[in-house]
Amino acid sequence: MNMLAVGSVAFDSVETPFGHADSVLGGSATYFSTSASYFADVGVVAVVGEDFSDEHIAMLNLRGIDTRGIKKVPGKTFRWKGRYDYDLNQAHTIETHLNVFSEFKPVIPDDYRLAPFVFLANIDPDLQMEVLDQVRKPRLVACDTMNFWIEGKPDSLRKLLKRVGLFVINESEAREFAGESSLVKAARRILSWGPGILIVKRGEYGALMFNGKSVFSAPAYPLENIFDPTGAGDSFAGGLMGYLANTGDLSEGSIRKGIILGSVMASFNVEAFSLERLKGLSRDDIKARYREFRQLTHFEDM
Ligand code: AMP
Repeated sequence: MNMLAVGSVAFDSVETPFGHADSVLGGSATYFSTSASYFADVGVVAVVGEDFSDEHIAMLNLRGIDTRGIKKVPGKTFRWKGRYDYDLNQAHTIETHLNVFSEFKPVIPDDYRLAPFVFLANIDPDLQMEVLDQVRKPRLVACDTMNFWIEGKPDSLRKLLKRVGLFVINESEAREFAGESSLVKAARRILSWGPGILIVKRGEYGALMFNGKSVFSAPAYPLENIFDPTGAGDSFAGGLMGYLANTGDLSEGSIRKGIILGSVMASFNVEAFSLERLKGLSRDDIKARYREFRQLTHFEDM
């Protein structure tokens, strides 16, 4: 195993202008690990309730994901209910039920602790910290979060960032967290809190990478039909981290390539509700879309 992921495994209910899905499989760790599984050997640490069906675990196993770290405990699985309006970049949370996550103490199985790549998907930053306390010298720790934690536990999040190498966050959340409307100033402030690399996810406008020396701008794929943006951020992170774990190359060139692969994975994910599109991709699907991305941004020198 070269990647450890911890985050939520959830049941989501989602409404978009194009339809709705009720109590379908979701969660930050689920989207992340499914996406990363195309490139890396992933082990997941999470907690689910008695209402969680084994068929979902079987789907993750079919993708080669190690699920020994997903514990089933008495109680109900984490539930998130959200809505998107025509601006699909902005998720509106209607309900968050932490359920079994409110009592969760992550215990990282011994053989997961040596994983060189660690992804702290969106969960309580205190739990993200407990995970870091149990792993041994990873090469790269990346982390994601959301407004729920930025507003609820900003100090825990800032403390965590001191130990994070790569931080991924949505555009509006970056502005809110830094208290700056200029994205460039917000990025500078967030980088000053610890991470060497910051990636700002901008939904249908792509992503920006800041590392204090250079800025890289990646487009998003101009899709004709977007059904459900849920999980786009986690599938993005899965493609990026999966690629880095696969090559072991942390140069800027490699990170740029990983950002495009992350964008490729996110573009597939939004084509259907839940993990319906993400779970059944082929190598050729991924390669073909990567080439389309190259085409999309290719231009001659002056
Ligand atoms: P994103 O990639 O940002 O669209 O993340 C979507 C996933 O995040 C959904 O499948 C939700 O189950 C999960 N989620 C929503 N709110 C939270 C929260 N407060 N903590 C952990 N996971 C969450």
